Amino acid sequence: MDTHTYPVTRTDAEWRAKLTPEQYAVMRGHGTERPGSCALLYEKRAGTFTCVGCDQPLFEAKLKFESGTGWPSFNDPVEGSVETTVDRSYGMVRTECHCARCGSHLGHVFEDGPPPTGLRYCINGVALNFQPA
Ligand SMILES: [Zn+2]
Repeated sequence: MDTHTYPVTRTDAEWRAKLTPEQYAVMRGHGTERPGSCALLYEKRAGTFTCVGCDQPLFEAKLKFESGTGWPSFNDPVEGSVETTVDRSYGMVRTECHCARCGSHLGHVFEDGPPPTGLRYCINGVALNFQPA
């Protein structure tokens, strides 16, 4: 079990009350949404993507790019907003990423993104809210 303490903590019952069943499965159960299922994939406006769990700004729209994977993809998170861990589930070694403020699972990080970072933050859209600029 994860014993790391985050600035925002909620009980399991509180998380279930706050999140939709799909959001709960992704954010608290490390699930993955169906590719192409999230409307945020097509969000092209300027603005900020925030955490559904705690409203912390996570990604800037200008660093979002079309990866063709079916999940919203970003070059880089807002500094300090996203933490990563090594995920060895499903027989793969991947870099999991989660909100640094509430610990909710967001998605994974891959090293096949565009410059300048070369990183691709592959994020479940259900974990994000969009605030137009
Ligand atoms: Zn959060």
